[in-house]
Amino acid sequence: MSNADIYHEMIIDYSRNPINYGKIEDHDVTFHDSNPLCGDSIDIDMKFNDNKVSDIKFHGKGCAICMACSSVLTEIVKGKEIDEVRNISKNDILSELGLEHLQAVRIKCALLSLKVLKSALYSYLGKHLKDSQDVDTLKEEAANLY
Ligand SMILES: [Zn+2]
Repeated sequence: MSNADIYHEMIIDYSRNPINYGKIEDHDVTFHDSNPLCGDSIDIDMKFNDNKVSDIKFHGKGCAICMACSSVLTEIVKGKEIDEVRNISKNDILSELGLEHLQAVRIKCALLSLKVLKSALYSYLGKHLKDSQDVDTLKEEAANLY
């Protein structure tokens, strides 16, 4: 099998059996966004403990790429410190699934979960951070992701 085949298999697998799929009833923050072009629509719930993401789950519906990237993203984020999570880039997600050269139309499918994650962090930190400039930077990152 070529690399492309392996990545394709991974995406199909994740979309059939998504990781971290579900809700966190007592979440500290939740955020929803959608990608109307494709019909992807997801929510991310997060819980924090000592500046770390102690739990993260997502739910909603989406195409195979959206579900696979949401699985990969939540797996990367779980247990990480907030500062590390803030530094997660598009390529960290895309490269996990060999999607670096995805066409522009599908990029939104792949990055919707990262956008929701950054928006959720922004919403959480906006309530807890004293440094408002820091919060503005995060808001801008979420808005300019794609
Ligand atoms: Zn999609």
